[in-house]
Amino acid sequence: MKYISTRTKNFQPLNSADVILKGIADDGGLFVPETIPKVTLDEIKSLVDKNYVGRAVPILEKFLTDYTEDELFESCELAYDWFDVSSKVPLTILIQDEQHKNSPVGVMELWHGNTSAFKDLALQLLPQLMTRALKKVGETKEILILVATSGDTGKAALAGFADVPQTKIMVFYPAEGVSKIQKLQMVTQAGKNVNVTAVKGNFDDCQNGVKKIFADENIRAELEKSNVKLSSANSINWGRLVPQICYYFATYAEFVKSESIKLGDTVNVAVPTGNFGNILAAYYAKRMGLPIKKLICASNINHILTDFFNTGFYDRNREFYKTITPSMDILISSNLERLLYHETGGDTERVKSFMQELNSTGKYKINSSFKNKLDKIFYADYATEDETLKIIRNIFDTFKYLVDTHTAVALSVVGKYRKNTGDMLPVIVASTASPFKFTSSVLSALGENVEGIDDLEQLDKLSLFTDKAIPKNLAALGTAKILHENICTKDEMAECVLKFAAGIKG
Ligand SMILES: *Cc1c(COP(=O)(O)O)cnc(C)c1O
Repeated sequence: MKYISTRTKNFQPLNSADVILKGIADDGGLFVPETIPKVTLDEIKSLVDKNYVGRAVPILEKFLTDYTEDELFESCELAYDWFDVSSKVPLTILIQDEQHKNSPVGVMELWHGNTSAFKDLALQLLPQLMTRALKKVGETKEILILVATSGDTGKAALAGFADVPQTKIMVFYPAEGVSKIQKLQMVTQAGKNVNVTAVKGNFDDCQNGVKKIFADENIRAELEKSNVKLSSANSINWGRLVPQICYYFATYAEFVKSESIKLGDTVNVAVPTGNFGNILAAYYAKRMGLPIKKLICASNINHILTDFFNTGFYDRNREFYKTITPSMDILISSNLERLLYHETGGDTERVKSFMQELNSTGKYKINSSFKNKLDKIFYADYATEDETLKIIRNIFDTFKYLVDTHTAVALSVVGKYRKNTGDMLPVIVASTASPFKFTSSVLSALGENVEGIDDLEQLDKLSLFTDKAIPKNLAALGTAKILHENICTKDEMAECVLKFAAGIKG
């Protein structure tokens, strides 16, 4: 399997190891597979009696053909070793009542990894794929991963890259812009190759600083002297997308194993969406042959994607809201570019012009025949803040099952979908974070007063209230040692990077 760019016709195809190391194509486009591989029902059947890694590897093998099966097994075993349940991605099946037993809701819990959110599935595997890619291409330099974070991605990347050979990782976060728990998660990160630095400024300052460093030839030349090469772990890297495709297959197999559905039965899939990465992975699974009817794209009140799918008009010129689902507070869904590529039949000129328009005017429009095409695949809707809180309470009261705010958005939109269309097929809902990750919203949803209660105390309160254990990574935060106290201004970021690359402390 070779990879090409979404923006250039006759692009010189690359191997997966190359695209995982490069992250983004030289023309500014995203890497896509030349063809979408197929999976037969027999192959899906063979996944049913396997464990998570056994289900993931055959899917990875279809895309990462320059890796051996052994390499992929070893990578997955190392990546998912820490996960706090042996099934790695458990499926919780909710059935309203006897009358609805043919309409189960399968909640795919993607949050049993090191940071209690779904990004762990990809960010634990990416470093393993990267180090093996370095060997394949004969790269001897160290890779320095630079991350600007508004909270969650930083910790997930740190946990994934800590002590991974031939890599270093450096994370910049806004000094006053992350929650107490997010900050503790990052500044307590152990590892010989990690650096965590607070920036006096907001998230945009961090992100602009990192972008500037990536674009600066002089810094790159300086880094070469320390035998270091820059790379990124952001969500447009193919190495982050491909691990996500696996869990749709694994969960379908689990659904069959549970006897809630039969092999070959068609299901819907609902995903709480931000950057369009997670739902794009479901799109690839569908194209590969997983029996999915509709992809249900769920948004919060920043519902730019709902509007796009319902009108064909993508327009980021709108008010931006900070919500109780911060990981979905996004107005540029970067991975949408890959969908445009595949659904235009690989029309790179058209994709390029959409992206140029988006860049210069903040908007673009697709024509009605293109929109009709997408209508057959996607259903899009959003949940208000109030609806999100209500559904958390509702699900808890009905099933004694607790979901986080992001998962609640998806569940709310599934309700709307079923009501509006009458389609009651079984549905797989991507549950993207542990409820303990968004404790104060979840407690409020349950009618608990959180005013004046410290973030760490809230964890205890939620645990008592729900009789569920705090995830071990979060439970450890209260006593973990602070290891990183670096702070800099946005103008000092480049200097910090050079010092860290050269092995100078501070
Ligand atoms: C990142 C994230 C999302 C959005 O996922 P995308 O792949 O960006 O669409 C949803 N929920 C949680 C908890 C997340 O961390």
